[in-house]
Amino acid sequence: RIAYVNGAYVPLAGAAVGIEDRGFQFADGVYEGIAVRKGRLIDLEPHLQRLWRSMGELDMDAPMAVGPMRLVLSEVVRQNRIADGFLYVQVTRGEARRDHAFPAFSRPSLIVTCRRFDYDAVFTRAATGVKAKSVPDIRWGRCDIKSISLLPNVLAKQAARSEGAFEAVLIDTDGNVTEGSSTNVWMVDGTNTLITRATSDNILPGITRAVLADLAAEHQVRVDTRPFSLEEAYQARELFLTSTTSGVMPIVALDGRTIASGRPGPLAGRLLAAYKTHMDSCP
Ligand code: PLP
Repeated sequence: RIAYVNGAYVPLAGAAVGIEDRGFQFADGVYEGIAVRKGRLIDLEPHLQRLWRSMGELDMDAPMAVGPMRLVLSEVVRQNRIADGFLYVQVTRGEARRDHAFPAFSRPSLIVTCRRFDYDAVFTRAATGVKAKSVPDIRWGRCDIKSISLLPNVLAKQAARSEGAFEAVLIDTDGNVTEGSSTNVWMVDGTNTLITRATSDNILPGITRAVLADLAAEHQVRVDTRPFSLEEAYQARELFLTSTTSGVMPIVALDGRTIASGRPGPLAGRLLAAYKTHMDSCP
């Protein structure tokens, strides 16, 4: 496998950045995860826009202009001969003598890796759905930035996995669902309205979330962007997750409570079909 590391395409085994990289010492960096389907980067432009926004919010310099970045990303896909995969892009503030304050001079580090990922297996799993577990949301006040500082997300996901659940559903101090540890969360209420939390500084504006909102509108599905409580989620007609690697993934049990009939609902099924078509029609 080949990685791109600060200007060079190198074998992944042995690829390295310095141990004083601020990503390593302070989690002072941002990232993107992009789906590769049939060799194409899905929703590349919104992912690049979000990456630039994340860097901007942290006063971080871009490691290169957007044009060259597009070329590097495609080249990593090509060199790894990936048809279906997951591309990981990470930018950190770079190497500097350890000090919390920004260094006067540092060159941002850019690393890009790509591995195979089986979306068809995910779509198959969506036919039966997954279990989820609620976990208190203990993250910071800027969850809109796609930062590599992911310890609360890691601990939440692990809390879920250790109980056999696929995802952790994060709950804020008001008892409302924020999002999943690496996904956005949606519910369908008794009137077949799709509900998901509005974007703000307490959730990541998911690219899949934005695509799904557009697809819902195209399919004449009502969408209400508002917070919903854990209690509402338990009573939902349908509950599902969206993300780059989960697509549209029904939740059939939450905290051991069966959601609706315990089988994926029709709206999630329709939206997944539309999302697959979207993936296949990306340029
Ligand atoms: N929320 C969080 C916290 C995430 O980390 C992710 C993806 O990694 C998402 C939501 C889903 O975002 P996307 O649809 O862009 O993959």
